[in-house]
Amino acid sequence: MNTLELPTNIDIAIIGGGPHALTLATHLLQKRKTMRGRFWVFDPSGTWMSRWNEQFSALEIPHLRSPAVHHPDPNPHGLRGFAENRSPELFPPYDLPGTQLFRDFCENVVQRWQLQNQIISAKVMRLEPPKPSINRRFHLHLENGKVITARRVVSAMGNHVSQLPEWVKQIPPNYPPERLCHSSQVKLPGLNLAGERILIIGGGLTSGHLAVGAIAGHAKVSLMSRRCLYEKLFDADPGWLGPKYLKGFFAEKSWEQRWYLIQQARNGGSLTPAIMTYLRRVSHEGKLTFHEQCQVTAAQWQGENWQVHCDDGTTQEFDRIWLATGNTLNVTTNPLLAEVLEHYPVPIVKGLPVLNSCLSWQGCELFLMGGLAALQVGPTARNLSGARMACDRIVPALTKASVSLNLPA
Ligand SMILES: Cc1cc2nc3c(=O)[nH]c(=O)nc-3n(C[C@H](O)[C@H](O)[C@H](O)COP(=O)(O)OP(=O)(O)OC[C@H]3O[C@@H](n4cnc5c(N)ncnc54)[C@H](O)[C@@H]3O)c2cc1C
Repeated sequence: MNTLELPTNIDIAIIGGGPHALTLATHLLQKRKTMRGRFWVFDPSGTWMSRWNEQFSALEIPHLRSPAVHHPDPNPHGLRGFAENRSPELFPPYDLPGTQLFRDFCENVVQRWQLQNQIISAKVMRLEPPKPSINRRFHLHLENGKVITARRVVSAMGNHVSQLPEWVKQIPPNYPPERLCHSSQVKLPGLNLAGERILIIGGGLTSGHLAVGAIAGHAKVSLMSRRCLYEKLFDADPGWLGPKYLKGFFAEKSWEQRWYLIQQARNGGSLTPAIMTYLRRVSHEGKLTFHEQCQVTAAQWQGENWQVHCDDGTTQEFDRIWLATGNTLNVTTNPLLAEVLEHYPVPIVKGLPVLNSCLSWQGCELFLMGGLAALQVGPTARNLSGARMACDRIVPALTKASVSLNLPA
C-alpha cells in the first residue's frame, strides 16, 4: 500500500517488515482479531521479508540454520504441516527449512493472516517521541515528507550497521568498491570470480557461505579469523530457548552480567559442522587456506590487486576482500532512536538499552524487537526464536489500553 491511502493518525506503527515484524503481526491478530486495522507496518520495500529474502539469495544460502519450529506463524507446527509434500526441503540434522520452502511458507503466512495490505512502502526517516507538554503521540517522518502520528511504535528494524575493522577505515577510497566489501554488499549470483584470490575475513556462518560461493565460482579462498574457527550447530545452545538457561538468566539482576551471559552463549561467530566439513575438504583439495588466529594490520590497493599485511608478519596479494565481520548492535548508533534517547534517557549496557519487561522503553510507548532487546529476551533475541519470545512480552502490552512504563524491567 502507498502512503496516500494511509490515515495520518494511527494506533500502532511497526517499523520494519522482516520476520520479527511478521511474527508480531500474526501474534497480535491471534491474540485479538480486533487488532486488524489498528497497526501498520512501514518498510521501504513495501513487501514483507524483503531484506531476509535478499540476504538469502545474495549469499546463495540453501537452508536456514534454525529448525522448522522457528518461523513467524503462531502455530509452531505450521511450517512442518506446510512442508508435508516437500520433505526433501527439510534438511538434516533437525529439519532445517530450505530457503525456498521458508520463503513460500512466509508468503502463505502473509496471505492466511491477510497482511498484504498492512504494509506501507515507506522508510521512516525520523522518529519524534511524544513530548508530554505538547502531545502524547509519536511523529513518524517518512521519506516522502509525509508525517504520521502513532500512539505506540514498535521498532523491528533489524540490525544493519556493518562492523568494519579499524584497518579498513584507514584505506583511502581509491579502489573499485566491489574489491573490498562487507558481506551485506556481496551478491554472489552473477559474479565472475574464476581464477581470483579472495580473502574472506570472519569466523561466523556468513564467512562460510561466502567461501562456498567463491569456491563454486572457481576462486581460490583464504579464510581468516582472529580466533580459531569454532563449530556449532546453532547460534546459541537450544537450552537458551527455554528454562534450562533462561531461568538463571532472568534471575540475574545485574545487566552487565546478563550482557556477559549473552556474549558467552553466542561466543562470537561459529560455523555449522556441515560447512566446516566442506571447508576442510576443499582445503585438502588446495582450493581454500585457513588463517586462524590471524588479523590484517593494513591493506593497500595496488591498482590491480590488494597487498595485505597480517599480524603474523606475512604479506599476501588478493584480488578481493570480503568482510564477514558482522553488524554492530548499539542503540546509540541508530539514528532513528537518537531523539528518543535524548528525551527519554535509559540505562545502556554495552550498547543495549535496559527496557521494561514488556520490552517498552522507559517513559514512552516505544517497544523494541530484535537484538537490541537481548538484555530482556536473552541471547537468541535477534533470531526467529527471539521474535516469538519478544511477542510473548509485547503482545499482552499492545492489546491493553495502557501499559505501565516506569516499572523496573
Ligand atoms: C544471512 C543470514 C541468515 C540468517 N539465518 C537465520 C536462521 O536460519 N535462523 C534464525 O533464527 N536467524 C537467522 N538469522 C538472524 C535473524 O533471524 C535475521 O537477521 C532476521 O532477518 C532478523 O529479522 P528482523 O525482522 O529483525 O530484521 P530484518 O529481516 O533485517 O528486517 C528489518 C526490516 O526493517 C526495515 N527497516 C530498517 N530501517 C527502517 C526504517 N528506518 N524505516 C522502515 N523500515 C526500516 C528493513 O528494510 C528490513 O526490511 C540470519 C541472519 C542473516 C544475516
